[in-house]
Amino acid sequence: MSKSRMRHLTVAKKAYVTPRLIRITLTGEDLREFPEKSESANCKLVFEGAAESQTVRTYTIRGYRCDPRPEVDIDFFIHDEPGPASTWAKDAQTGSPIGLKGPSGPKLVNDTGDWVLLAGDMSAMPALEANLERLSPETKGIAVFEVVSPEDKHAVKAPPGIDIQWVINPHPAMPNTVLVDAVRGLSLPGGTGGVWIAGESHCARELRRYFRDEAGVPRSHLYTSGYWQMGLSEDSHQRLKRKEAAADTIGSEQS
Ligand SMILES: Cc1cc2nc3c(=O)[nH]c(=O)nc-3n(C[C@H](O)[C@H](O)[C@H](O)COP(=O)(O)OP(=O)(O)OC[C@H]3O[C@@H](n4cnc5c(N)ncnc54)[C@H](O)[C@@H]3O)c2cc1C
Repeated sequence: MSKSRMRHLTVAKKAYVTPRLIRITLTGEDLREFPEKSESANCKLVFEGAAESQTVRTYTIRGYRCDPRPEVDIDFFIHDEPGPASTWAKDAQTGSPIGLKGPSGPKLVNDTGDWVLLAGDMSAMPALEANLERLSPETKGIAVFEVVSPEDKHAVKAPPGIDIQWVINPHPAMPNTVLVDAVRGLSLPGGTGGVWIAGESHCARELRRYFRDEAGVPRSHLYTSGYWQMGLSEDSHQRLKRKEAAADTIGSEQS
């Protein structure tokens, strides 16, 4: 099945992982050829409406099983300012329809160095957890999770050598440096590290700058991604990213 073809799925199960993180399990015959080991990859969820009025949002494949029936798990962070995706997740019931395009390839931390550092907010939690589950049991490092409240802390499967740290940010959609300060305050182990960071786009950008320019992490070992931007819907955020990428291209052609 091509990546751009829509898989027509329905809700099989819904469960609260934490008060603000809802796991929705999707099923459908269209998942029969879903690629194995897609956890941490992203996909496009397509919400109901006529083709020209459909809303599309990007989410992470948190889990996939093919037996006894094909199922995909998606974890939705329920943020304060409602959007079509978070509202859909809150209201979804068994049998609710949804479209899924993708997935992309998995987005994994480079774990070929001496240690790893993974950090992100609640929108990145599915990808962070999928990454931690894929690491070899000997891996050493640190994982920093930014959550909205102490009730959003939960058991995370990770190698024993990973130091799991939690930081609380009750207002992630207001300007803040909670995750940036927490990550910059870490004392990094010696040797080469692989860094994987996702979350609000200003935060991801600042941490990219820090690891590249101050901590000396090579580009090959540095993954950062702005998953959302405060004050912007995903459509506006994507438009801004495309504009910035085009401006960068023109800038580098002129220099
Ligand atoms: C590669 C990738 C993978 C992603 N995976 C996941 C995932 O698995 N689970 C998940 O929950 N999210 C994930 N996201 C983030 C998700 O796509 C955005 O949060 C998206 O904006 C949610 O759509 P919405 O319709 O709920 O809100 P929108 O209509 O896009 O936005 C409405 C308002 O809510 C604000 N907002 C949006 N997201 C957040 C947030 N996280 N925290 C606080 N305020 C916010 C916006 O700034 C806007 O003001 C991922 C993003 C990317 C790029």
